[in-house]
Parts: sequence; structure tokens; C-alpha cells
Amino acid sequence: MKIAMMARNPDLYSHRRLKEAAEERGHELDIINTLRCYMNIASRRPAIYYNGEKLQHYDAVIPRIGASVTYYGLAVLRQFEVMGVYPLNESVAIGRSRDKLRSLQILSREGIGLPVTTFAHDPKQTEEVLELAGGAPLVIKLLEGTQGIGVVLADSDRSAKSVIEAFRGAKVNILVQEFIKEAGGTDIRALVVGGKVVAAMQRQGAEGDFRSNLHRGGSAQMIKISPEERSTAIRSAKAMGLNVCGVDMLRSNHGPVVMEVNSSPGLEGVERATGIDVAGKVIELMEKQAKPGKTKTKGK
Ligand code: ADP
Ligand code: GLU
Repeated sequence: MKIAMMARNPDLYSHRRLKEAAEERGHELDIINTLRCYMNIASRRPAIYYNGEKLQHYDAVIPRIGASVTYYGLAVLRQFEVMGVYPLNESVAIGRSRDKLRSLQILSREGIGLPVTTFAHDPKQTEEVLELAGGAPLVIKLLEGTQGIGVVLADSDRSAKSVIEAFRGAKVNILVQEFIKEAGGTDIRALVVGGKVVAAMQRQGAEGDFRSNLHRGGSAQMIKISPEERSTAIRSAKAMGLNVCGVDMLRSNHGPVVMEVNSSPGLEGVERATGIDVAGKVIELMEKQAKPGKTKTKGK
């Protein structure tokens, strides 16, 4: 196969590993800087240009679109899709996953366990939103935050109110969630590849932090997940329409609850914690699936 990987930084662990895994299996993989692509959207002959040249035929594209370039990155990925190139994850599915509220709505439609989550636009409803979420302690999150930035724990209704007001003043969208205290500052990341959980790890937040993100100083270890957790992860990937994703869950008193589904999961933490060749599994999936015209949505 000839594979294009949309990524800005070729030196990132995940990107290096995917390239290695592809080459080990006899494929060619070019890293293409998403922001340097430009496009011609004229009918019938869609093309992508790069460094002054038209990109030639690719069998598959691996989108690794950073959160801060979602809009342009998805436009480039759609263009690949319109050209009939098989995308590891489709643009529509990635678009859904980038919006936490939209993701939770899609998961709730499938009956997947979620933390009680509320959302309102009008500041007049703040009190009711707090009450609906079950009252403090509450977690307040930026809708488009990543890496644990913009996730705040409020211990009292009063502090919850002031955090909400502060976010509102900054004109950003937020959601308010029940705090799953019993998770004890840990969460589970299950890597789903082609409808199977290929690796799972438990992340533990840095001392005193309720957020277990590795970017926030958390640590990871291999974990054996329960059948219920496994099926929750698989159903979440399916509901989102993602071939490859990281499903983040908390162990709550009422079973596993999904916090989010990440469409470009980092491989470093999970490969180091489990010793599993996740990159290899991703390439294997592409070998099975990358056929021309297999894109379901073509960006629609
Ligand atoms: P991000 O997308 O920025 O990583 P998350 O929603 O995944 O944001 O939250 C970051 C971390 O905060 C999670 O990994 C988890 O450890 C913790 N966390 C988030 N929501 C809750 C919650 N409702 N209850 C308990 N802990 C939570
Ligand atoms: N093409 C639609 C969109 O991008 C699909 C919507 C969906 O099923 O989520 O919004």
C-alpha cells in the first residue's frame, strides 16, 4: 500500500511508530504536513497539492489531526475522501468526536453508560443545571478542551457557579457533569482497533490531581478490563463510527461510564504500559480494509 499520514510533527512517538509499522510490513508511508496542503475543489477532478506538486495516488490516509487544526485538517481529509482514498477514520466521525457534547449525545442514543451531564446556554438556568447534575461536587468542562486543560472540579455549588460564570464570561461552551469520586483519580483508556479492544491501560493522576491525563503528569499501567468495560468501549467506537479510537472510561458505582472517545489516540503511553504493538495492529486493519471506494460518508 501507499499510505499518506496527515501529521504536522513527524518526530512524535505515535507518528514514528505508525511509519515504522507500515514500513516493516512492506508499505510506503509519506508524512504530509496537513497545513501545507492546498486544494482544488472543482468538480470531477478533485486534487490535493503539496509543496508545488499534485499528490499522486494513495491507497489510504491516516489522519492525525491536532485539535487546534481540526477545521482545516478535516477539509483536507474530506478532499482525500472525495478522491476515493480510504481514510483510517472518516472525517465525519472525527468531526463528531471533536465535540464532547455531540459525542455524548451520540453515545446516549445507543444507551452507553455516561456520567450525568448537563448543558445550558442561558445563565438564568445555572442553578437548575447544577441541580440536574446532582449538585456539588461537580466537574465543569470546556466542550472543546483536550489533555485535561479546561476540566475543573468544583467542591461546592457556590464555586461551581463562579466557575460557570467565569467560563461564560470568556464566551466558551461548557458542560457540567457529576463527579465520579469513586474512580479515585484514575481512568481507563481502551484502544479499539477494527471493533476489538487491542490494549487497555489504567491512568492515575499526579498526586492530588483528579485528572488522570498523562499530559498532566499522570502515570499509566496495563490493566485487565471487565467484559462490560470491553463491550462499552467497542459499542462506543461503533456508535461514533471510528475504526481506531481511544475510549476513556471511569469505573463508577453504576458501571463503566464513558467520558470521551479520542479519534487520534496517542500510542506512547499505551504501548509502553502494555508492550503491545498497537501501531502494527492499526496497519494490519488497513491492510484488510483499504479498498478504493470504501469510504461510507465521503465527507457528507
Ligand atoms: P480531556 O478531553 O481534556 O482529557 P476529560 O473529559 O477526559 O478531558 O477529563 C480529563 C480527566 O479528568 C479524565 O481523564 C478524568 O481522570 C478526570 N475526569 C473527567 N471527568 C470526570 C468526572 N465526571 N468525574 C471524575 N473524574 C473526571
Ligand atoms: N454528514 C453529517 C455531518 O457532518 C453527519 C451527521 C452525523 O451523523 O453525525 O454532520
